[in-house]
Amino acid sequence: MKVLIIYTGGTIGMVRTENGYAPKEGYFRAALEAIPAMHAEEMPEWELLEMSPLLDSSNMTVVEWNKIAKLVAENYERYDGFVVLHGTDTMAYTASALSFMLKNLGKPVVLTGSQIPLCEVRSDGRDNIITSVLIAAGGRVHEVCLYFGGSLLRGNRATKYSADGLVAFVSPNYPALAEAGIEIRYRRSALLPKPEGKFELRLLESVPIGVIKVFPGIQFSLFESIMTEKLRGIVIETFGAGNIPGDGNALLPIIRRAFANGTVLTVCSQCPQGAVSLGTYETSNALKQAGAISGFDITTEAAVAKLYYLFSCGYDKGRIKELMEQDLRGELTI
Ligand code: ASP
Repeated sequence: MKVLIIYTGGTIGMVRTENGYAPKEGYFRAALEAIPAMHAEEMPEWELLEMSPLLDSSNMTVVEWNKIAKLVAENYERYDGFVVLHGTDTMAYTASALSFMLKNLGKPVVLTGSQIPLCEVRSDGRDNIITSVLIAAGGRVHEVCLYFGGSLLRGNRATKYSADGLVAFVSPNYPALAEAGIEIRYRRSALLPKPEGKFELRLLESVPIGVIKVFPGIQFSLFESIMTEKLRGIVIETFGAGNIPGDGNALLPIIRRAFANGTVLTVCSQCPQGAVSLGTYETSNALKQAGAISGFDITTEAAVAKLYYLFSCGYDKGRIKELMEQDLRGELTI
């Protein structure tokens, strides 16, 4: 078994600098080699590829998603699995994007990182890397996933939950794919089946996407021009099961105009757990009537990534609306 580790940056490989933690080119390989367990007999063969420049994941864009996805695709036949070392801040976005970009993925792609850098004695990076490499070599999963703090989560179901806890990610609407205790225990019923089709890569375009979070007293008119002219895809984070303030009627004509202009608007919930159900309350009916689509229980991260993906596939807005409401990679429950 052979695993390719793709190091993109993030806290895991950062060192102390005068301006706080930052990645340092050329440092990480020696730090990884210095972990005795990485050379243990039980470990698979592994190789490291360092991306340049190394990034704090706050600086990740579609360009870097494309680079990572290309590295996986170019090396797909030569390795049994992939580990992507990544900053935690936007790891759930990258995991979601990769899940759409890597179609018919038949091998594990595991994203991980750490809250404490490897250069510190209490680093959580060691277990995160070692377990991720073992999962990547295990051949049990055929999807993009995220391992952190003892749990293996579906990548497009994960969301960063804690800014300083070592269990930094949760998957509020889907069970963990595996738990790593004394043994790594997989939840077989939660795993995606091995795909039958041929593996395919879809690169993404930098489509203008926006996220709007509603709050009491929101003045929708202030968002009118960006919603109707500038954005092609919008994720609207509503209250509860898809509700917007009563004055949401102001939103109705805006959404209609936005849709007429080719913009696709998906409704997500501000509640991490549970699903959007448009039309259950009067306050969500306006959205439904105007042509907004339900994101069901999708995370905002996955909704953003899915919009990028569907627009990059070149579909028209009608098809994008249809596919946003379908489960493509296990990202939502209908
Ligand atoms: N700012 C860092 C990053 O996302 C945080 C981390 O890695 O935990 O790159």
